[in-house]
Amino acid sequence: MAEDRLLVAFGDELFSYDFGPYHPLNRSRTELFVRRLMELKERAPEKIELVEPAMATEDELTLFHTREYVEFVKLACSPGSKVRYLDYGDTPAYPNCFTRASVVVGTTLKLLREIASGRARRAFNPVGGLHHARRGAAGGFCIFNDAAIAIEYALKVLGYRAVAYVDIDAHHGDGVYYDFEENPRVVFFDIHQDGRTLYPGTGHEYERGKGEALGRKMNAPLPPYSGDEEFLRALEKGMRFLEQFEFDIVLFQAGADGLAGDPLTNLMYTRRAHESAAKALLELAERKCNGRILAFGGGGYNPVNVGEAWSAVVEVLAGI
Ligand SMILES: [Zn+2]
Repeated sequence: MAEDRLLVAFGDELFSYDFGPYHPLNRSRTELFVRRLMELKERAPEKIELVEPAMATEDELTLFHTREYVEFVKLACSPGSKVRYLDYGDTPAYPNCFTRASVVVGTTLKLLREIASGRARRAFNPVGGLHHARRGAAGGFCIFNDAAIAIEYALKVLGYRAVAYVDIDAHHGDGVYYDFEENPRVVFFDIHQDGRTLYPGTGHEYERGKGEALGRKMNAPLPPYSGDEEFLRALEKGMRFLEQFEFDIVLFQAGADGLAGDPLTNLMYTRRAHESAAKALLELAERKCNGRILAFGGGGYNPVNVGEAWSAVVEVLAGI
């Protein structure tokens, strides 16, 4: 079936979301993935469709972010600006960063709209999943939180009743967790390196949502040096948790920085972690929400790992 192919966002404007050669989030981290993607596309051309990036409007950005913050980023990124960092030292400001960050968001929303229209059921934005940006602040290399904007878009514009957000990036998805902590329509599950040993320092087991949303969030912190075995145990627990709820789409942040050898974290996964998570979530989406799943590349600062982990996700979601 035509709707069974995977849409993959691909284009120069998208991959140019980076902070230069001396910053961990630089373009070269994605080069091996791009090569793997081209090989997969050659092997199974009918199963992967490349989609051009798109630019978000300011109204789309403010579905999640405050108007003041959007204005601040625009000014900080304009020529002559004296702002060097958008946060406390992780996320540099540079000319064009407003546009580049807006392209990540616009591309995520374009894929979401493709899914909502029924033209496809599965999509992947390799540069998306910028899960540390808060409503009013940048954080951890993330300027605009495309995943959080996709959640607001799904709930407010598409009228979805609920979404499931699943995050296996080595870092806790704090920008999604805290800004939806009290929202029962966002079911949340996050496996990450224990916050006592890694940025952003959050995502403890006792953080299970608040108010009406209490019990609809699950955080699964793993100690440093955890590998596939620990990951798969946490994943299994998470899948039992997710099974209790109903939702209209699965959002999957598949950060590659948990694989052994990442320069910023201390986890020891292999590509099997990403393969297993993608398989489990695809099956979950088939049962719960007609197979609708939107995946994001997230973090990952070792190019070999990024190639391995993201191509595992693409292979599973494209059925290759
Ligand atoms: Zn990360």
